[in-house]
Amino acid sequence: MSKKLTPAMRQYMEIKKRCGDAILFFRMGDFYEMFYDDAKAASRVLGLTLTARDKNREVPMCGVPHHAAKEYIKRLLRAGRKVAVCEQVEDPSASKGIVKRAVERIITPGVAMDEEYLDSRGNNFVAAAFVSGDSAGLAYMDVTTGEFRVTETRGLRALLDEIGRVAPKELVISERDRSIGRPVDNVTLMDAYDFGRATAEKTLTEHFGVASLDGFGCAGLDAGVSAAGALLAYVKANHLGGLSHIGRLTPYFTDDFLVLDHRTRRNLEITENMRDGGREGTLVSLLDRTSTAMGARRLRSWLLFPLVDPGAINGRLDAVEELIAAPETRSAVRSLLRGVYDLERIMGRVAAGTASPRDVGALGATLERVAELKKTLSGAFSCGLLRSLSELDDVPEAAALIAGALVDEPAPALGSGPVIREGYNAELDSLKAVGSGGKDELARLELKERERTGIASLKVRYNKVFGYYIEVTRANLANVPDDYTRKQTLVNAERFITPELKEWESRILGAEERIKALEHELFTALRSSVAGFTPRVQATADRLASLDALVSLADTAETMGYTRPRVHDGYSIAITEGRHPVVEAMLRDDPSADPFVPNDLTLDEDRRLLILTGPNMAGKSTYLRQNALIVLMAQTGSFVPAAEASIGVVDRIFTRVGASDDLARGQSTFMVEMNETANILNNATARSFIILDEIGRGTSTFDGLSIAWAVAEYVLDRSTLGAKTLFATHYHELTDITLTNEGAKNYNMAVREWNDRVIFLRKVVPGGSNRSYGIQVARLAGLPRPVVERARELLRNLESGEFDEEGMPRVAARRVAAPRVAASGADARRVAVCGSGGEAAREGGTESGEVRAVQPTLFGHRDPLREALRAVDPDRTTPIEALNHLARLKKLIEP
Ligand code: ATP
Repeated sequence: MSKKLTPAMRQYMEIKKRCGDAILFFRMGDFYEMFYDDAKAASRVLGLTLTARDKNREVPMCGVPHHAAKEYIKRLLRAGRKVAVCEQVEDPSASKGIVKRAVERIITPGVAMDEEYLDSRGNNFVAAAFVSGDSAGLAYMDVTTGEFRVTETRGLRALLDEIGRVAPKELVISERDRSIGRPVDNVTLMDAYDFGRATAEKTLTEHFGVASLDGFGCAGLDAGVSAAGALLAYVKANHLGGLSHIGRLTPYFTDDFLVLDHRTRRNLEITENMRDGGREGTLVSLLDRTSTAMGARRLRSWLLFPLVDPGAINGRLDAVEELIAAPETRSAVRSLLRGVYDLERIMGRVAAGTASPRDVGALGATLERVAELKKTLSGAFSCGLLRSLSELDDVPEAAALIAGALVDEPAPALGSGPVIREGYNAELDSLKAVGSGGKDELARLELKERERTGIASLKVRYNKVFGYYIEVTRANLANVPDDYTRKQTLVNAERFITPELKEWESRILGAEERIKALEHELFTALRSSVAGFTPRVQATADRLASLDALVSLADTAETMGYTRPRVHDGYSIAITEGRHPVVEAMLRDDPSADPFVPNDLTLDEDRRLLILTGPNMAGKSTYLRQNALIVLMAQTGSFVPAAEASIGVVDRIFTRVGASDDLARGQSTFMVEMNETANILNNATARSFIILDEIGRGTSTFDGLSIAWAVAEYVLDRSTLGAKTLFATHYHELTDITLTNEGAKNYNMAVREWNDRVIFLRKVVPGGSNRSYGIQVARLAGLPRPVVERARELLRNLESGEFDEEGMPRVAARRVAAPRVAASGADARRVAVCGSGGEAAREGGTESGEVRAVQPTLFGHRDPLREALRAVDPDRTTPIEALNHLARLKKLIEP
C-alpha cells in the first residue's frame, strides 16, 4: 500500500476502519467507489471492471453510479455481503478542502429497511443463537416490522430445527459457539462479550427503558436473554436509524407449536417447493389469498408454526367458519383490506426516520380505511377471535395530524413534488405565493422587455449556471438597450442580465431555498409526532394481519370445497375422502387430467402403523403427504380437503421421503436416509405423526429390508414409540409384520391389469400387494424395448428362483442367446440368491473362479437350509446318504 495517501484516501481509511466486514460504498460525486479488498470482492460479485486509483496500480478500485446503487447493493446482499453506505454530508461547492463524509447506513442481509431489498410477503429476520450447557437460546427480529421474539430449546438439534423454521436471512453467533455451524447462508460471528448474561440484559433493559425483563415474561430465560441482548446490540450497531418501533420482546415456547423439522417443511413443500425453493406448487401459494402484505406474512407464519392446543385451533376454525357463512361481510372486508398499506413496515421506517412523505401519506390513508373497516365489522361477528380482531384502533389523532399536514398524494420524496398541504403553515404558504407569483411575473417581465426593445423573439429564461437571463438573437442585437449586461455569447444569440432581473432572481431563489428547508422541517416534525403512535398502530397492524389471514383461509376453503375438521385431544385421526390440496388444485386446472381420487385414513390405538404397498406411480407418496398436510392444515386453523376429518392433535410431524444426496456435507444418499431416520426415531413421541416413504432403498435388499422392518417395529411398539405412522414401501415382505404385530395394518394402492398394462385406480384398499409393476412403469417412462424385455426375463428367473445343473442361479439365464456382459467388482463376486425347492445353492468355484455365496433369506420364507432339510426323508435314507446330506448341509452354512 502506498505510504503517501491523498487526503480523500486518508479519509476513506479512517471510515473503513469503523465498518467491520461491510463493503464500503464511498460516495465521490455521482459514484460510489470501492477500494482495495472491497473493490476486489465487489468486482467479483457484481462483475464490475477493476481499475486502479493510482499510477502504481496499488489501489484497486471499482465503482457504481449512485442512482443505480440499490440494484448493486441488492446483489451484494444476496451474495451474503454487508454494505456500508458513506455519503458526502456537506455541499461540495461550499466545503473548504476535503468534503465531509459519514456512513449513513449499514445494510446486511438481515438488517435492511428499503423495500428493494425485501420480500413484502415474507419476513426479513435476523437471528442470534447462544448455547449454554443443555439449553440454547434463539432470538429473532424483523427490523422492518418490529417483531422481536425469543425462545429456548433443549439441545443443539432442536435449536437447529427452530432456526430452520424461522429461516433468518442472517444468524449472529458468539465466536465461542462455532459448533452451531452454518445452518443458514449468512452467519456473522460476534464478540462473546455481547452474549454475556449481564451485558445482554443491560442492552435490553436500556432499550426498553425497564428495570427488569420479567414484565416481558422472560424470567428464567438465560440463554434466550443472552441471544436477545446480543441480537439487539448487533442490530443497533448496524441499523443507524431509530429503533423505537422495537417495543417489546415476546418469549414463546417451542412446545406450544407443532414441531416441523427442516426436512419435513421441505418434503411437504409448505412455503418452498422441492424443485427450486420457489413458491410455485407450495401449500402457502394455494392458501394465500390475502389482500395485504401483513396478512401474507401472518398466514405464512401460521403455516410454519401450527398450534397444538385444540382450544386455540378451534378458535381459529370458529372464525373461518363464521367468515365462510358471511360472504357479504367477507367481501366488504376484503375490498377494504386491499386499500391497506404495509403498516408494520411503514411504522418501522417512521421510527427509523426514513419514512418518505408518500409513506406517511399511505399511513394516513390506511388509518382512514381502518375507520371504515371498524364500522363494517362492528357487531358483525359473534365468535371470540373475530370479535377481538374487530376491535380496531384507527388512531384518529394520527390520521388527523397526517390529513391536516400532507397533500392528498404526497410526493415520493421531499423536494420532488408537493408534500405539505396549503393552510398548514402560514410562512410556507406565503413563500409559495412568492414562488408561484414569480412565474407570472416572469411572463410579465418578458412581455415588458419585448415591448421596450421591440424584439419579438426576446426570451427570459433560467439555467443553473447563470440563473435568470434575457436571450436575444444575433439579428436583434442592435436593439439591445444600454442597461443590459452581457453574460454569455452563443452561436446565434447573446445572453444578458439586468439589475431588475437580478433582484427578482434573488427573491425567487431565496424563497425556494426557504421552502425546501421549511418543508423538510415540517415533515420531519410530523414524522416524529406520528412515531409517538407506534404501539397503537402496531396493535392495529397485528389485528389486520390476522383478520386478513382468516379471510384468506375462508376464501380458499370456500373455493376449494374444504370442510371444517374436528380437532380434539384424543389419539386418533380419521379422514374421509381426503385429497392432496396442491395435487388436486393442479389436476383441477388441467382439463386433460383425470380428477383427483379421494382416499380415507384411519389411525387409532389399534391401527397405529399402516404399511402401504403398491406399484410405482400408483399414488403412495401423494397419499402419505396429503394426510400429513391435512393434519398440518387442521392445526393451522384451516379447513381441510376432505369430506370429513377428525384430528387428534399431534406434537410433531416427521417425514422421510425419497432419496437425496447431501454431497456438500459429504454424505451419501444412504447416509442422509439413515440420518433422517435416526432423527425421527430419536425425537418422535407417541403423539407424533410420522410418514415414511421408503426406508433402506439405498443399500442391499437384505440390509434395507432388515432396517425397514426394525424401524417399523420400533415406531409401532408402544414401549419404544407407538407413534401414528404411514409407511410406504416396495418391500412386500414388510407386509408380514402385521402377522405378528397388533396395531399394524396393510393397505395397498389398487391397480387393474389390462393387456399387460397397469391401470392406476389411485384407491387405497385394505391388504398388502405383492407386485411392484416396476417394469410396466419403466416401459411407460420410455426405457428401450430390449431393456424392458430383458428385465421381464430376469424377473421371471428371479421369481422362480431356480438353479441350473451346475448350481448357477438361473437369474441371468437367457431364453434367447445374447452376448455375455462380464460382471465386475464386488457385485460379480458376491451374488445373493434365494433357494427354493430341494435344490440348494452350492458354494464353490465357478468357471471363472468367482466365489458365490448364499445368503439365507430373512424371516424363513426361502431358507435353503430349511428347504434342503425338508427334502430329506429319514425313513428312506441309508447311513451313507445321511452322511452325504450332512456334508451338504454343512456346506450351506459355512461362509
Ligand atoms: P413411486 O413409488 O414411484 O414413488 P408413488 O406410488 O409414490 O410412486 P405418487 O408419486 O404419489 O406415486 O403419484 C404419482 C402421480 O399420480 C402423481 O404425480 C399424481 O399426479 C398422480 N396421483 C397420485 N395420487 C392421485 C390421486 N389420488 N388422484 C389422482 N391422481 C393421483
